[in-house]
Amino acid sequence: NFCDVVGIFCLFSVAAALDFKYHHTEELEAYLKGVHAAYPSLTHLHSIGRSVEGRDLWVLVLGRFPTHHKIGIPEFKYVANMHGDETVGREILLHLIDFLVTSYRRDPVITRLLNNTRIHIMPTMNPDGFEATKVPDCYYTRGRYNKNGEDLNRNFPDAFENNNASIQPETQAVMNWIKNETFVLSANLHGGALVASYTFDNVTGSLKGYSRSPDDDVFIHLAKTYSFNHASMYKGMGCDSRQTFPEGITNGYSWYQLEGGMQDYNYVWGQCFEITLELSCCKYPLADQLEKFWRDNKAALIEYIKQVHLGVKGQVTDRNGNPIPNAIVEAKGRPHVCPYRTNEHGEYFLLLLPGTYVINATVPGFKSMLKTVEIPDNTGNFSALKQDFSFSEVSIRSRAASCPKTPLYQDLERASAATKPTLHILVLMTVMLVIFK
Ligand SMILES: [Zn+2]
Repeated sequence: NFCDVVGIFCLFSVAAALDFKYHHTEELEAYLKGVHAAYPSLTHLHSIGRSVEGRDLWVLVLGRFPTHHKIGIPEFKYVANMHGDETVGREILLHLIDFLVTSYRRDPVITRLLNNTRIHIMPTMNPDGFEATKVPDCYYTRGRYNKNGEDLNRNFPDAFENNNASIQPETQAVMNWIKNETFVLSANLHGGALVASYTFDNVTGSLKGYSRSPDDDVFIHLAKTYSFNHASMYKGMGCDSRQTFPEGITNGYSWYQLEGGMQDYNYVWGQCFEITLELSCCKYPLADQLEKFWRDNKAALIEYIKQVHLGVKGQVTDRNGNPIPNAIVEAKGRPHVCPYRTNEHGEYFLLLLPGTYVINATVPGFKSMLKTVEIPDNTGNFSALKQDFSFSEVSIRSRAASCPKTPLYQDLERASAATKPTLHILVLMTVMLVIFK
């Protein structure tokens, strides 16, 4: 145990305010271990893997039940510093941790937030790139990449084209993490611009201008929640006069196309709505500006987490009340290329803006159940609307086919066009078998 070794210093360092300075690997680890030692029942510290150079990829989990998922409590995550030379996110997440733990049971809003949300914070996804950046620099440096020279935000499977980049250890660790947790909402912290960017980053074919997801309205709301609670992002001034962002938000593809990005991956494969936050015009500003960056982002970081309670959530169960995993639950008119499914507890979470929706629950092999729900504006209640589904005919755990590894949008369109001839051949063969019997 860290505190046993460090003794009284540990108590002192946690009790003292967190400095506004850059925390390198050892200091970052010491800080996270110190917080966990000081707040053992409110936090859980674990490493989800290692970087190419063997540094731990630390995640601090905060909440009333930090060690494991509780039914009905949504999972939220912040990931920073995936580009090693974009450093503001790395430090402000440490200050966010400090603010959350010191406000619990003191500030009623933060207390309710932590009682009803499990918050995962990963201050750095690319610790090697951060350590490789020796001198603070506002512009691009080699520290952007991991030790193998790969851009981690081009390294994920892509929903629109085959990504031939070899998956890096840091990327694989995050992919496993996303698979193991039921993340509902997330943000990915960068630098080099001042804007909240949302999915999609890539596109089918040569669409001009905007790559719209079926949940575009929700993404615009999420991005605006951040930009309007930020000290200046909403003004949309960008970083120079040539590039402005109305209301401080942009569709990722509208800004520039990229392949293998983390936000599209989260949305398509992780059932998690992620946006990309560009927090500073200067990628690696001097440490004396960190306090201002924290002040500018504090309210936005908190308001954004609350959005995990948008929409509707519930459980799908069989006639004995047992949870049905892998049931498909989607809102009508919002089909996901890889349909959103219940987790091992039969739970689903759908982020939706206030309004009337038809929710369709499907257990493969059985008749779908439709329920009309009226979703209120309830993020202030720290709980999405609850709507369970009980399948009276189902009494066994049924398993749907798993999501394809590469649900390419183009292939999907081709496949649906090819289904009809295949069916015709099947019908023809059946008819022939009957005739020749
Ligand atoms: Zn970046």
